[in-house]
Order: sequence, then structure tokens, then C-alpha cells
Amino acid sequence: MHPGEYTAQTVFENFMDGTWSASSSGRLFENRNPANHDDVIGVFQESTADDAVRAIDAAERAYADWRLVPAPRRAEMLFRAAQLIADRKEQFARDMTREMGKVLEETRGDVQEAIDMTFFMAGEGRRMYGQTVPSELRDKFAMSVRQPLGVCGVITPWNFPMAIPSWKIVPALVCGNTVVFKPSSLTPLSAVNFVKVLAEAGVPPGVVNMVTGGPEVGTVLSTHDAVKVVSFTGSTAVGRLVNQNAAPAFKKVHLEMGGKNIVIVMDDAQLELAVEGCVWGGFGTTGQRCTAASRVVVHEKVHDEFLAEFSRRVKALRVGDGAIDGVQMGPSISESQLETVMRYVEIGRKEGATLVLGGHRLQEHAYARGWFHEPTIFADVQPSMRIAREEIFGPVVSVMRCRSLAEAIDIGNDVEYGLSASIYTRDINKAFAAMRDMYTGIFYVNAPTIGAEVHLPFGGTKATGNGHREAGIAALDVFSEWKSIYVDFSGRLQRAQIDTE
Ligand code: NAD
Repeated sequence: MHPGEYTAQTVFENFMDGTWSASSSGRLFENRNPANHDDVIGVFQESTADDAVRAIDAAERAYADWRLVPAPRRAEMLFRAAQLIADRKEQFARDMTREMGKVLEETRGDVQEAIDMTFFMAGEGRRMYGQTVPSELRDKFAMSVRQPLGVCGVITPWNFPMAIPSWKIVPALVCGNTVVFKPSSLTPLSAVNFVKVLAEAGVPPGVVNMVTGGPEVGTVLSTHDAVKVVSFTGSTAVGRLVNQNAAPAFKKVHLEMGGKNIVIVMDDAQLELAVEGCVWGGFGTTGQRCTAASRVVVHEKVHDEFLAEFSRRVKALRVGDGAIDGVQMGPSISESQLETVMRYVEIGRKEGATLVLGGHRLQEHAYARGWFHEPTIFADVQPSMRIAREEIFGPVVSVMRCRSLAEAIDIGNDVEYGLSASIYTRDINKAFAAMRDMYTGIFYVNAPTIGAEVHLPFGGTKATGNGHREAGIAALDVFSEWKSIYVDFSGRLQRAQIDTE
């Protein structure tokens, strides 16, 4: 695809060194509405490795000054950015629904998360606390301070197109780093909206650069010598590749990857509340959340009652274009994601699970031009089945049975991933035991597996993450490095550990 073919449409460019410019490739890609693929939102730059290198060069040059701007001054720009996003919340949410399909109520939430994160992190400009500690020697001062690292490569997925970029870019900036940002090719418009706001808020040229495109750009961000931190959110397979690519240069790599999250429903649970939570956790964002409640394990005493009510509630969900009032679940993001969902429905059937609800693509009438699938529930699922172990990333929930809390926890932990889990119970002892024993980065009591807030750490264990966390002050650990400083004002040589008298 070449620029001339798109004169009637909006062409979006890369952002480098404070200016918008076309890729050297001369190639473009389309961004289409997943609820109606006749609706072309715009065309974006299919960038090359050279474009990525130019953006990194710009970020490296800008770093020389940006790292010396006092953090409270950097934060003032971020406060302005947060307010600008708030002023444009409705437009940004509508753009997002159009490009990735989730319902307006949820895209407003996505934009709100970017607002919350930006205000929260801007506050760090006047904190970013280090430590001062007493020295073991007289007339000696000891402290630690956070220092920026340099250029950060930021690679993001499509399911939270403004929230996730904000989780990475804003803490990177407040710490004094510069950024090259590669958004998902499925949601580049929300990325453009976010980057424009940062520039308008006064972030200087070269401090934030955006390069759209595919793996070619991502590979440069993971391998180039000048990139000191790679912060990636996406699938476990691509995360592993990023990690391998970044390893030879010992880059700091922050990975947030897949999930197979579980809701545990005990026999003493408030069943109505559990059902409501499982509907929201399983089918919110069409199941396309890393924290989606794609597994539910229910105590055998209440299993049948739960399943009947859960199915009744899910059957009533209104599926459609997320921009239309009253719609509760939008389309899958793309044809290939829809095919993945359909493939897993087939796998579930073949594995012998009982298809209780849904199981088909929606193609008639209003659904004809989009990537829609029925909300789908499997019951009689065994923990060993693939539908209970692999991330599907669609509107498919697997329901299992258990006889005890211990069994539920074993099932919960026996997957490759470790992002989020939850329990519904009125027994505080069970709640605390599950809170302690589920090996996940996030845990909820009497709430579904989704609903994280920006001021606590976010991330997972095992194949979900590599030990880092974003959000909260934990994000500062990704985007800064500790320097320990000793100032000896005794005027003589004092030897730690040796001059002990
Ligand atoms: P993806 O892995 O396909 O893509 C993520 C990003 O990586 C995109 O920008 C993509 O262009 C880029 N990329 C692709 N190949 C690359 C390469 N070789 N080198 C560098 N970058 C490359 O994931 P997706 O489909 O966009 O998002 C869905 C996945 O993201 C799911 O697995 C979901 O669980 C995960 N996710 C995780 C979290 C979390 O916090 N744990 C949050 C949201 C989404």
C-alpha cells in the first residue's frame, strides 16, 4: 500500500524529534473497525528498521538535556498532559471503541486509567523517594537516589490502547528517561492521541517518539545498543523473543504477558455476586483482557445452581458494535483472533467438555461486517484440558468443579500463567488462605479477576511476567536505577568494615 492510494483518507505519520514524518518505506497499513470492517479509520506508517533507528537516535540526543530537567518540572508537563486527556476523554474513548471494539463504557475506563496513571506518576516528580541511612563511620553521610537509564523502548498490545502505553511512558518520563514507543498495529490511533497530548503538554522534541509498524520495529527496540530498558506487554511467545533479543546486551527487560485467570466460588459464597463477577470478569472486553476470568472453579455443592444462573445471565448479554448504547459485548479485535476463538471452541468440544452456551460465530444482519462471536460457556471442563490451560483471549469461559478449597487452589495454580485470581466466600479463613496460596501477582476477594487500580503494582508470576511490576511506585523500579552515594566529611581515610573501633 502506498501513500498515493489513500488521498481520500486520513494518513497518520510517525512522531520523531518533535515532528510528524512518513516512514522511509513509503508503505502504509490500514486501521479498520472490528465491528464493521468496511469502516477504514485511517492509514498508518509501516515503518522500517531504519525509522526505528532514527527515532532511537532522536531519543538519545534528547536524553542529554531531559535527564537534567528537575523531576518536579518534568512532572508539571505530565500534570498538564493528564488534564488534556481528561478534557478529551469522550473523543479518545470513541476513537478507541472504533478501532478496537470494546464498548464505550469500557473505553472511557481505559482513558480514565491513563488519566489516573498520569496524575499519579506526575506526583512522583516531587517524591521519588530514596533512602538516607546512618553510616557506620563518623562524619560520613550515606544515601541512595534513583537515576534514569536513558532510552526506553516501549512495545504495547491492542487491548488497552491508552492505559498500557501510559503505564510505561509516564513513569519512564518522570524518572528522566526518553522513549521510543511502538504501539500495536491494531490500535495506532489511540497511540497518536496519547503522543499528541504529551507534545502539547510541553514534553520537548525527541523525549517521546512514536514509530508504528510490526516486528521489524520491535526487534530494533529490543536489540539496539542505545536502548537501555525494554518494556513490553503482549503475548508470552513474543515476550520470550523480546527477552532473548535483549539478553546479549544485558538490557533491563520488563515483560507483562499472557494469563489464564481463575475465579474460585466456594459453597458459602454469595452466589448472585459471584455470578455477576464472573459475567463481568469473563466477558468484559469480550474476554480480551490479560486478567480475564477465563476459568471458574465452583464447589460441587453449588455448582449446578451457579452454572444455571451464570448461563442465564450470559445468554442475556447484548453483543454488537461497542459504540451503540446498550451493547454489553463488542467484537473480537480481528479476523485472526476470531479464528483463534473458533478453533478453541472446536478443541473444547473434541476434548469432551460440555458446550453449555454459545459456541458460534455471529454473522447475520448487524454482525455481517464484523468479527463477532457468541459469549460461550463450557462446563464439565477438566483442569487438564487445553481450554482450561491455554490463553484463548476471547469470550469463552471454562467452568470446573471442586470438592474443597485445597483442590480449587491446586487447579488454580496448575497452569503456566500467574497473573490474577479471585475467591468468592464469606469465610474469612478461606479468603486469607487463598490469598496466601495462589501464586499470582494479583488477588481479589469477593470480586472478579479484573479491576486493578493504578496506585498498586500490576503484573504476574511464571509465564506472565519476569519479576517486574508496572503501576504503583513499583513502576519506578523498572524505569530507574539505584545509585548509592557516600560522602565522607571527616578529612581522613575511613575504612568501612575495617575501622570498627
Ligand atoms: P502480541 O504479542 O502479538 O503483540 C504485542 C506487541 O509486540 C505488538 O506491538 C506487536 O507488534 C509487537 N511485536 C510483535 N512481534 C514482535 C517482535 N518480534 N519483537 C518485538 N515486538 C514485537 O500481543 P497482542 O496480541 O497485541 O496482545 C495480546 C496479548 O497481550 C495477550 O497474550 C495478553 O494476555 C497480553 N497482555 C498482557 C497484559 C499484562 O499486563 N500481563 C496486559 C494486556 C495484554
